[in-house]
Amino acid sequence: MPEYVALDLETTGLDPARDRVIEVGAVAFTPDRTLATLERLVDPQRPLPDAVARLTGITQADLKGAATAESAVRELIHFIGGRQPVGHGARLDMEFLTASGLWDAKSDILDTLDVARILMPAAASHSLPLLATELGFSQPRPHRALDDADATRQLLLRLREDAAALDEGLKESVLALVAPYGWALARFFAEALTAPNPETPATPVAGRRSTAPRPGATPPPDDPHEIAAMLAPEGALAGTLPGYEHREPQLQMVLAVAQIQARSGTLLVEAGTGTGKSIAYLVPSLARAVRQKERVVVSTHTHTLQEQLMNKDLPGLSQLPWDFKACLLKGRSNYISLRRWRRYLAEPCENAEELRFRLKVLVWLHTTESGDRSELRLQGREEVLWTHIASDPLDCVGVRCTAEDCYVHRARAEAEASDLVVVNHALLLADAEVGGGLLPDYDHLVVDEAHHLEESATQGLRQEVDGPGLEALLDRLASRPAGTASAAGLLEELRAQPRLGSASNELESAIALATGARSRVHDLFAIATDFVLERLSDGERREESLRLTPQLREDEDWDGVAIAGESAATALAALETVLRAAVTQARDWLGGDEADQGVRELEIIRGRLLGALLLIGEAIGDPHPNRVYWFAQVQKDDTVVLRSAPLNVGALLRDRVYAERRSIVFTSATLTVGGTFDYFRSRIGLGENVEELVLPSPFDFYHQA
Ligand code: SF4
Repeated sequence: MPEYVALDLETTGLDPARDRVIEVGAVAFTPDRTLATLERLVDPQRPLPDAVARLTGITQADLKGAATAESAVRELIHFIGGRQPVGHGARLDMEFLTASGLWDAKSDILDTLDVARILMPAAASHSLPLLATELGFSQPRPHRALDDADATRQLLLRLREDAAALDEGLKESVLALVAPYGWALARFFAEALTAPNPETPATPVAGRRSTAPRPGATPPPDDPHEIAAMLAPEGALAGTLPGYEHREPQLQMVLAVAQIQARSGTLLVEAGTGTGKSIAYLVPSLARAVRQKERVVVSTHTHTLQEQLMNKDLPGLSQLPWDFKACLLKGRSNYISLRRWRRYLAEPCENAEELRFRLKVLVWLHTTESGDRSELRLQGREEVLWTHIASDPLDCVGVRCTAEDCYVHRARAEAEASDLVVVNHALLLADAEVGGGLLPDYDHLVVDEAHHLEESATQGLRQEVDGPGLEALLDRLASRPAGTASAAGLLEELRAQPRLGSASNELESAIALATGARSRVHDLFAIATDFVLERLSDGERREESLRLTPQLREDEDWDGVAIAGESAATALAALETVLRAAVTQARDWLGGDEADQGVRELEIIRGRLLGALLLIGEAIGDPHPNRVYWFAQVQKDDTVVLRSAPLNVGALLRDRVYAERRSIVFTSATLTVGGTFDYFRSRIGLGENVEELVLPSPFDFYHQA
């Protein structure tokens, strides 16, 4: 039976270099019983901050003549003996113990915060006090070291029960995942999952809204006035909408939106705070979408507004007299790719942090219906690890995965089946840029937080290539490590695989091309950096970016940049062509659904090289009239990146977003400048043929009335 020691320290502050320990608490236990406790006050040899005294209830007088930090830590180490130390959010405790010089910094502590994040992903907070309250632990003196250590003990035992109560299939997967590793986290799961099942109910998972049709549902009205009347004091929604208030500007907006959706066109609405504008466009949009089977997309800038729409406004409209289906659709990198996940899972973990991430995902996958990363609440480096398993267009076999097997497919299918789809501006713009396909077909668009649309479009459509990043990609393909005669890198690794057969010739020629391209890219960015830095530091104020204007291209030194750029683009294009052929041949040779991992990596690199060469070729030699190009200095080490963005996003929006819609509503609390919509219209590509409405906030309205 495993033996643990839950420990906790109270300190004068949060900085181990400056602050001191004032109390040590520890509880030795097995899953069956508490074996012993340790509680020592420590004299910090300095005044106790008032805030700490208030929080802990420990006074300066209590600490006078107490143990020294050294003796308390020695006692703690002796108390732990050969048992497994456990802490909650133990990183800080470890830093204080390590600062004492007595603690082995490599000690592997089991952190209940990690385990709670894995096994209780839906908890509102994973802090010890909140978990202790929520789970009903006995903790008579919170923020005292012994009581916090004992709360940690209770939490570990509860987590152990939760682990033992996991579904048998999931247990098998977790056991297989942790089996090769000796880290404390792995040992905890290996032991807990083989302990007898205490039949503790698993943490409940939030259910989905039922999609079954309601008895007595009626079709939505067609007449805009009837739709607006639903929000009047005697209307159908007055008694059912949570927090309903009669707001005249809201009624005006409902009417205007319903009318524009009925007769087609573009409407700009500036609606002051408190208008209730989301309800004002949702009600007519849902009526239109359901009655006419014309899908509506609502686009927002912020996550906060998306949350409000999905968790408050749309559920609040569940009492509408007609049934509707609405969903949130995100960009694909928000969804896990199960195919990439399985591949990642088959590779060894490099450290305990990676194991923790995999455990978290594994348990989450057992309950998630959406596969959306926001449910995982990723922390720190987990964001980087997520990129290994996120859906990635460059590593997606698309149709070969079934809808049951792919959350991206599922999310799209749900959007296809929805009357109203909520997206963010970035996804709306990405769909426009690739000519559709990311969003389901839609007839009406409502752009909320519309004052951010231009900025989102400019950001989202920005492209960038940096020299060191591009060189690193080329090095990954083929490099010649110092002191060696032979090439190394992905191409050489692939060439060494006899099973790649006829791709071998392409792989061999790609090695020379990659080496050549790397040197051209290096030359380009070296020349460009000199050119740019000389001009950036020319004026009195040091700028951080240099726009590639027609005048600049007349500069006598520009020829050097242009020649190097053309040479780099040509070398990259030759390489990309050969890589494309190599990938095709290798895939044909291997057959089957799942290509070799190295071939997949080659395909990803090829896609990135293509993006880089197009940008270099365009920026240096063939600028597009509707794009702006510039070199920017982004690091202190004087390297520059090449960037490009649309000069006027209006043209793209007009051609690819507005042209195909029956109606578009732009709304925000601030759209006018100097009392007119002219500036907004000019920035987002709208002509004069639009309808405009400015609604004061209800407060102002009543005073004006
Ligand atoms: S279709 Fe693409 S995103 Fe979906 S599981 Fe397959 S590879 Fe991953």
